Amino acid sequence: MASAVIETEIKYLKGIGPKRAQLLEKELGIRTYGDLIAHYPTSYLDRTSYYNISNFGGEMPYVQVKGRFITFNTQGEGAKTRLVGLFTDGTRTMECVWFNRIRQIKEAYHTGVEYIVFGKPTEFCGHWSMVHPEVDTQGSLMATCGLRGVYPLTDRLRTNGIGSRQLHQWIQLALSVISPSIHETLPPQLLSRLKLCSLREATENIHNPLSTERLNAARFRLKFDELLYLQLNIQQYARRRKANSGGFRFPRIGEYFNRFYNDQLPFELTGAQKRVIKEIRADMNTGKQMNRLVQGDVGSGKTLVALMCMLIAIDNGHQACLMAPTEILAGQHFETLSELVAPLGINVKLLTGSTGAAQRRLIHSQLADGSLHILVGTHALVEDNVQFRSLGLAVIDEQHRFGVAQRARLWRKNTTLPPHVLVMTATPIPRTLAMTIYGDLDVSVIDELPPGRKPVVTLMRYDEKRMEVYRAIGKQLREGRQVYIVYPLIKENEKNDLKSLEEGFEQIKEIFHGYKVAMVHGQMKPAEKDWQMELFASHKADILVATTVIEVGVNVPNATTMVIENAERFGLSQLHQLRGRVGRGGTQSYCVLMTKMKIAAQTRKRLEIMTSTTDGFVVAEADLKMRGPGDIEGTMQSGLPVDLKIASLTTDSQIVELARNAAIDILDDDPDLSKPQNRMLSHEFTARYNRSIDWSRIS
Ligand code: ADP
Ligand code: MG
Repeated sequence: MASAVIETEIKYLKGIGPKRAQLLEKELGIRTYGDLIAHYPTSYLDRTSYYNISNFGGEMPYVQVKGRFITFNTQGEGAKTRLVGLFTDGTRTMECVWFNRIRQIKEAYHTGVEYIVFGKPTEFCGHWSMVHPEVDTQGSLMATCGLRGVYPLTDRLRTNGIGSRQLHQWIQLALSVISPSIHETLPPQLLSRLKLCSLREATENIHNPLSTERLNAARFRLKFDELLYLQLNIQQYARRRKANSGGFRFPRIGEYFNRFYNDQLPFELTGAQKRVIKEIRADMNTGKQMNRLVQGDVGSGKTLVALMCMLIAIDNGHQACLMAPTEILAGQHFETLSELVAPLGINVKLLTGSTGAAQRRLIHSQLADGSLHILVGTHALVEDNVQFRSLGLAVIDEQHRFGVAQRARLWRKNTTLPPHVLVMTATPIPRTLAMTIYGDLDVSVIDELPPGRKPVVTLMRYDEKRMEVYRAIGKQLREGRQVYIVYPLIKENEKNDLKSLEEGFEQIKEIFHGYKVAMVHGQMKPAEKDWQMELFASHKADILVATTVIEVGVNVPNATTMVIENAERFGLSQLHQLRGRVGRGGTQSYCVLMTKMKIAAQTRKRLEIMTSTTDGFVVAEADLKMRGPGDIEGTMQSGLPVDLKIASLTTDSQIVELARNAAIDILDDDPDLSKPQNRMLSHEFTARYNRSIDWSRIS
């Protein structure tokens, strides 16, 4: 952006000083002038319109009210001392409350004078109050247009007297110093093609909008900037990796593959499975390392696709591994795969944190001499002492739990060429988000379920109707089916949750006496967990009472009913994953979402999406819209860095696409960003991203 001024520390800005500077850095990460002017308002208040106190109701946003203080009173004692100003706007009264700086406030504000107070009203017993409001006289408000930026703040800042208006004033000061030297960073052709306003104009208007149009243009420009640099980072990463990483060639479709396909395969592959296997096969024969994502809804048959690709690797004289996020899942994959390929004389072994020393030694030696063909396991696989003779293909199941860095550890398993990498995920992610999160991966989609599957019938039931639900479960059990009963378990509330799980377990045993009930939860020892799972998987147990540990991948086709307790406490995507555990055979399956009678309207809407569709993509889109991409962006931070201040990967998906295309164009023309027209761009790109990623460790 500009020169050295933006690196000036804010403690030198008039009115801030070292103490407040420290506070601002701690609370908002603002250290320099540059950080300060990049602290954008999250919303804008129309300064010309005021709320009436008599119209307050429900959950209130930050608002401004015009009126007068009637009285000021100091109430309470010691640490609880507070100043209460009774304020009226002529329609009603409310209380303005201060816990700090009482003396200063009392001296600064007077009864009878017209003020504009700004804050978030809350209601208590029919009375409204604002804690630590900002108070202005008409004249002291900045005269821009009608729009006043509302800056994100923390409570700690507010109690220290730093409000939105104070920040605004400091930002004005910083802007007046920096603004004249804000240089354009984007190449002129790009600016004119996308009709973007200049960086200087955008920076000024985001803080002091001259009109709604200018403000929109400013927001667009700044969002585009953020997303462009993000996409440049992803694209450059992907390109470098592709350029650098040669890969094994697997030209042969050999005996293992053919014997499996002709003699072992228990069913016909779906068209989508065939297509994806073809894509992968072609990719593993280019002489470049494959990095491919296979997306497929729960139950679409990803495991089989992975297995057949592993057979290709083995046919070409290499080994393969399959990495899963949990021990249960790894164990299940191990069993499925062993059963399918044992008749071919393929050696499959399981390695997890709980594998014993002797077995570990055996695995290590068989890996080294090449007699072990497929190794299935958890994170334990990436440990450095796990050395293959030649790892040809690494499959990662349920990618969202592994970051880029972990994938990279797999690549270093071979001293010659890196293995091909296949990532499988059931998390259906909308296209724009996938382009960003998996920007460095090629994508294959299994968009077809095996034939004969009946969509799971999903119902919502109130706790009051529990007996009815139990009767329905009884019917399924009598028909020889199995049932999941799932309880929420969240960290903050672990003790209570565990208690309700255990109570549920006792209750279910009592109601369904005569049937065997198993239980699994995350607090169990792995061996105990496996034993309980095994009871259910082998149908020695009829009912499984569980927490979300069963969420990923577990496959028991005879289980036809799932009851989810306190369904309102689960996220939509999580509910979808859970529901995917039933409906895996040819029998009609059911998922019952149990809730309290009283749930928020928003929650009801969320759950109704579950009852109205079984399409994972629809569920994921809705989830993102309602909840925001929090989790997903969080995941990315473990891989490629994403630090978005103003843009959103979900709500700004159109700008994401524009930015991505622009990044591709720029890099096609100038891969190293060394051409003169990209000099400023390159400079800014380095400033934003160089600190945060060490390429040599990853590629
Ligand atoms: P996911 O994609 O959720 O990992 P799985 O690979 O676990 O799905 O497959 C779900 C179930 O469907 C398994 O029981 C598997 O054996 C079965 N399956 C996979 N492919 C087919 C197919 N083409 N036809 C019939 N059943 C299949
Ligand atoms: Mg799976």
